[in-house]
Amino acid sequence: MTIERFAPSPTGLLHLGHAFSALTAFEAAQEAKGRFLLRIEDIDGPRCKPEYVDAIYDDLRWLGIRWDTPVLHQLDRLERYQEAVDQLTQMGLTYPCSCTRKDIAVALSAPQEGDDAAMGPDGVIYPGTCRHRISGGENDAIRLDMRKAVKFLGTSDVKYREIGEDAGPKSFDTAFLVKHCGDIVLARKDIGTSYHIAVVVDDAFQEVTHVTRGLDMAPATPIHVLLQRLFGYATPTYRHHRLIRDDTGKRLAKRHDALAISALRQAGWSVADVKAAVGSSA
Ligand code: GLU
Repeated sequence: MTIERFAPSPTGLLHLGHAFSALTAFEAAQEAKGRFLLRIEDIDGPRCKPEYVDAIYDDLRWLGIRWDTPVLHQLDRLERYQEAVDQLTQMGLTYPCSCTRKDIAVALSAPQEGDDAAMGPDGVIYPGTCRHRISGGENDAIRLDMRKAVKFLGTSDVKYREIGEDAGPKSFDTAFLVKHCGDIVLARKDIGTSYHIAVVVDDAFQEVTHVTRGLDMAPATPIHVLLQRLFGYATPTYRHHRLIRDDTGKRLAKRHDALAISALRQAGWSVADVKAAVGSSA
């Protein structure tokens, strides 16, 4: 049974890019006579607002999209994410980190061997300052020790499947994760979890078989596949679709209020207009 999901963060109004994502996933679920789930990724503190959750429901319904209930809210699942991080800690794969952004910037500005500070999916790659600390404080973040994690995996070649515009079998070398992602944060100081943990735990919990999302999320996929392997979860099939851009070629972001679905609705657009604008056949 195919299970697709749409997982918006209620930090702003849905725009044409979200409509494309949701329609693509919904259409794929319908074609496969599968299920379509909605997950509200509301862990990001005060940036997430209830009025945006209401607007998500409203816009999706208007687009003709229907989802199975109950809707999963990540904020209800913080304990589960904590357990998942603890599991990795028990496996000896994490360490506490007290570095502030400033500490990291200072560490990275010191003369370094080799390359300049490299960027990963979460921003600059952590220089490893806290990697050998034995004990942590209450307000520390928890990081994955990527070297230990890939060693634990015991294979250098990790495979997964991609469909859609970039279809085919995919693989990455675990050395890529060490070099290009580094010791990612698993639990932020403020929320006790991270996007990576929450998304991997929930995709497994909801038995998602197909993850449909924008190409901007593709750099995080090797991290997610790694975490799935560490937890012993199945890896879904991924579809990273093209991004919808504004007239100047810029990727749409939540600040593009003029292209918010609700604004377009008010301006008299029909669902067919939205579908035509994003090139969806759904
Ligand atoms: N919550 C993320 C967003 O709104 C999407 C995460 C995902 O689809 O994996 O950008």
